[in-house]
Amino acid sequence: MIMEVAGVIFDVKRFAVHDGPGIRTTVFFKGCPLRCRWCHNPESQRLRPEPMAGAGRRYCGFVGAEGDPNVVGRSVTVEAVMREVEKDVVFYDESGGGVTFSGGEPLQQPHFLRALLEACRERAIHTVVDTSGFAPWPHLAAIVELVDLFLFDLKLMDEVAHREYTGVSNQLIQENLRRLLDRGARVVLRVPLIPGITDTEANLAQLTPFIAGLPGVEAVHLLPYNPIGEDKYERLRKTNPLGRLQTQPDDALAAISARFSSLPTDVKIGG
Ligand code: SF4
Repeated sequence: MIMEVAGVIFDVKRFAVHDGPGIRTTVFFKGCPLRCRWCHNPESQRLRPEPMAGAGRRYCGFVGAEGDPNVVGRSVTVEAVMREVEKDVVFYDESGGGVTFSGGEPLQQPHFLRALLEACRERAIHTVVDTSGFAPWPHLAAIVELVDLFLFDLKLMDEVAHREYTGVSNQLIQENLRRLLDRGARVVLRVPLIPGITDTEANLAQLTPFIAGLPGVEAVHLLPYNPIGEDKYERLRKTNPLGRLQTQPDDALAAISARFSSLPTDVKIGG
């Protein structure tokens, strides 16, 4: 029974408008195989629930309601998630929205993700999977027919820099992206613009020809640096690996966006 499959999540955000088309409910999975130094959801990285000061204040809704207010993450069934998701079906229908599975890395819990996608498909709810792309191909292949849209991150093109700043190689990510496009998946690429790391001349100069060589990318979203995660490290008793960074000013974002203007696809700043 798919409704009894359980997994670990750390938040459910209703009325989200930056995680895919229309009005959406975003379900945040816990667990990620990457360790991006700029991660703005550091509470997502470990698969298990963990101590986080004031987690219950931030993570309200049904996720934190029954749990310890200083623990982030809890185990839930597909049935419990779908109960929350189905509250807003009328808004999805009116806005062209639906559900987004994000994280962390949702493919870190492949059976839970697939069961949720099946439950959404049975109810004709539009689905988005927001992924780093770092997962065994069979896990992606198992869900591709159930996903209406992938939001797929591209971070650093240089292999050595990718390893240094995320902890993993970018080869599997790039292979998976090509395979998804070959299978006809709808894909929006998302590029997190991290000051001095991913928004550099060297990285942008490699990103644009790489994207130009991919068939069928639906759009490219350039995501300005978001400092929202900086205070979370302290609450998790972790050290923020990068310290405080500044969001790019508008003129710098416009210059970065212009670098992508030759691509035969929509490019926008923001998600
Ligand atoms: S892939 Fe996303 S959730 Fe995982 S470490 Fe990187 S920024 Fe954080």
